[in-house]
Amino acid sequence: HRTLRLILGDQLNPQHRWFREVDEATTYVLMEVRQETDYVLHHAQKILAIFAAMRDLAQQLREAGHHMHYIAINDPDNLQSLTANIDALIGQYQATVFEYQAPDEWRLDQQLYQHGRRANIPWIMVDSEHFYTTRNEVSDLFTGRKQWLMEFFYRQMRVTHHVLMEDTKKPLGGQWNYDHDNRKPWRGDPPEPRDTRTLHDHSDLWQTIVDAGVKSFGNPQARQLAWSLNRQEALRHLDAFIDNALPQFGDFQDAMSVKSWRLFHSLLSFALNVKMLNPREVVAKAEAAYRAGHASLAATEGFIRQILGWREYVRGVYWANMPGYAEKNFFGHNHQLPGWFWNGETRMNCLSHAITQSLEHAHAHHIQRLMVIGNFALLAGLNPAEVHRWYLGIYIDAFEWAELPNTVGMSQFADGGLLATKPYVSSAAYIDRMSDYCKGCRYDKKLRVGENACPFNALYWDFFQRNTDALAKNPRIGMAYRQLEKMDAATIAEFQKQAKIMLENIDKL
Ligand code: FAD
Ligand code: SF4
Repeated sequence: HRTLRLILGDQLNPQHRWFREVDEATTYVLMEVRQETDYVLHHAQKILAIFAAMRDLAQQLREAGHHMHYIAINDPDNLQSLTANIDALIGQYQATVFEYQAPDEWRLDQQLYQHGRRANIPWIMVDSEHFYTTRNEVSDLFTGRKQWLMEFFYRQMRVTHHVLMEDTKKPLGGQWNYDHDNRKPWRGDPPEPRDTRTLHDHSDLWQTIVDAGVKSFGNPQARQLAWSLNRQEALRHLDAFIDNALPQFGDFQDAMSVKSWRLFHSLLSFALNVKMLNPREVVAKAEAAYRAGHASLAATEGFIRQILGWREYVRGVYWANMPGYAEKNFFGHNHQLPGWFWNGETRMNCLSHAITQSLEHAHAHHIQRLMVIGNFALLAGLNPAEVHRWYLGIYIDAFEWAELPNTVGMSQFADGGLLATKPYVSSAAYIDRMSDYCKGCRYDKKLRVGENACPFNALYWDFFQRNTDALAKNPRIGMAYRQLEKMDAATIAEFQKQAKIMLENIDKL
């Protein structure tokens, strides 16, 4: 037999069982294709980092003796589609078997599956050996339930995988979740740890990508690309995070500051999502740091919950809701994204910071994505499918299985509350509590109406007012409705007028 094996751009795991032995009859293919650069407008760093990391893996596997076929974006015989290239290679190598690892995106899963049904050689999908759970484990757990509580899933994961457990049933410390300890603002102390990531000069590759006509946005940072591009770098970065930032991770998990864009976050999502790192090793290192007395239980649990809990959970939500999840629009929101989503040029300091940082670094941390950008998008009634495409393009870690449930479900409540128990919205008060953005802002965080009023305030009340029918019965948002009930009709009319003016002038906010 002669086997052709496909490695997708987010399957850069050199530890996969495929690579344990060198087989003369097997050829591995990696391909840079327009199909993958063009399905949405991507951040420059995302395209550059994925291609550079693919090239790095190909080189390492070649050095280990494997037979590699690499199709570069500008190769003359690159047909720019996965399946067209596969067909050509099957012919070229006279392959008698085709194998691929389970894709994490519905789109690719379908494309390869449908193509395989018509193939005249065996077409075999194998496990990618990355996640803790199978695609359907989450949906099996929640069958028949209206709400899919992450916390319920997470506790099961802790037990099943013996993570931070006292014994087979009791969590370490007697508590499952230390979230309430993890909500401090950051005022500059302790200082942000040094950025120890390796810088790479990939300006030649970047020129190749541009010359090939690939469109993108954001700063490519081609001369100092900072993302881990292979497993060795990712492991070093993981160790540096555990040593320098994990102890503070919990405290400042939700904090935001103009003085720092990384704070105490791990910046591991890219390395995890392209599978250079396995979630088990990340969780194990964090737990070991706690057991060695290096980090508190609250910090360690807070970090582990993101990976063992949220990351696996959103993936399960994704597979349970595809296809069709991207079209969900519970509130019927249809406004276009304002132009400043693409250049950061808004006078709202919080949004200007979060978006400018995203354009510079292809990264924003969770609370910036959720409580600044997503919060505004939901309050302003932006179309969730458009919001989804923006998130899918801009972040270095944006792969649809992770991005879509976070955007459409958690942040835009467009699935009507399957994933989130309430819409994540706030007025200026929350943003001011968790950040130093409001101090330098042209708008006044305290004002609700008038030219200087912070747009979040009127939009917040207008959002609840216009969605009374859909939301008033939700017990988790009773507070907002009790406050609305106390307002007189004239006050409410004022908010509505203010919100209307702002939305009409959204491009100039
Ligand atoms: P840390 O704060 O250090 O967290 C550690 C790890 O936990 C992350 O690397 C990530 O693997 C995991 N994690 C944390 N939160 C989540 C979550 N909600 N869902 C899944 N994994 C999580 N994450 C992505 O990986 N890809 C996305 O496309 C993505 N899109 C998002 C869109 C929106 C609207 C929101 C609100 C969140 C999104 N997230 C996404 C989740 C989260 O914001 C990022 O995982 C995180 O900011 C990555 O930075 P970090 O590695 O420094 O994370
Ligand atoms: Fe954002 Fe409003 Fe604060 Fe300005 S005042 S930074 S717009 S929350």
